[in-house]
Amino acid sequence: MSLNIIVCIKQVPHPEHFSRIGLDVGRQTITREGIPAVINPLDRHALEEALKIREESSGRVTAISMGPPEARRALEEALAIGADDAVLLCDKCFAGADTLATAYSLACGIKKLGHFALILCGNETIDSATGQVGPQLAEFLDIPHVTSVTQIAFEQEGSLIARQALEGGYMKVRVRLPAVLAVTKEINEPRLPTVWTIMEARSKEMQVWAASDIGATTEMTGLAGSPTQVTGIFERDTTRRREILDGTPSQIAKKAVGRIQELIAT
Ligand SMILES: Cc1cc2nc3c(=O)[nH]c(=O)nc-3n(C[C@H](O)[C@H](O)[C@H](O)COP(=O)(O)OP(=O)(O)OC[C@H]3O[C@@H](n4cnc5c(N)ncnc54)[C@H](O)[C@@H]3O)c2cc1C
Repeated sequence: MSLNIIVCIKQVPHPEHFSRIGLDVGRQTITREGIPAVINPLDRHALEEALKIREESSGRVTAISMGPPEARRALEEALAIGADDAVLLCDKCFAGADTLATAYSLACGIKKLGHFALILCGNETIDSATGQVGPQLAEFLDIPHVTSVTQIAFEQEGSLIARQALEGGYMKVRVRLPAVLAVTKEINEPRLPTVWTIMEARSKEMQVWAASDIGATTEMTGLAGSPTQVTGIFERDTTRRREILDGTPSQIAKKAVGRIQELIAT
């Protein structure tokens, strides 16, 4: 069985530096200057699953990302971990994309890649966390999708069984291929690159495609193609006020209830 697998990789700010993400209220943008970027954690699980499937069958694993030129670093890491090749979708017209415009551009890139059996992505990202890109991508490609996937098993040619996490349980779903699966962290333990895979990655190719290379209609990409647009960014007032209530525990409890009621009423 030979399966070509595409793994969607988003570059996100390093979670240890989230507190440094700021708001530029004047320019109405989020500021991330100087914050190191990493592969979205769940996308590492998606890549790991693709590599495991490749080891058990054959085929190629291609990592794809839509992002600014710096997103190249995430794809270089994916190559060093074991992806066979990588594609960066990078064009000024992709800027300001909401999830729909992101999924559209990824779908155009994936169509250009051609034959594939499976697209793996993370269930959600750690920075925007909408969980929409996987299902939207499947819609653009007109193929089935399953989210919250915790296990994948191949039983017969042309389909697979995905175990989907539900609240308080699991559901096993048979999916016709090609399909999009969005995975959770339960699915596997991602590997780290080794000296050997890092060396090997040097000879691997990364393609950089603009909108015109993938036949994307520019009106459907970036800000122009986004049905949701940011209309305002505001800083939330997080100043804390402290009040010390004294008395016996029951007096303090009564005072606390009184103060809470006063605050709710104002
Ligand atoms: C109105 C609006 C304006 C925005 N403007 C900007 C902006 O100007 N600049 C900006 O950086 N962001 C912007 N964003 C955020 C941007 O739309 C999201 O980062 C992007 O669509 C992915 O959404 P998400 O992180 O919720 O992905 P999710 O749906 O949570 O991601 C699920 C999975 O999809 C895959 N995936 C998601 N995004 C990508 C990608 N880019 N490449 C490859 N795979 C991917 C990954 O496998 C990921 O694990 C904007 C969002 C909105 C709503």
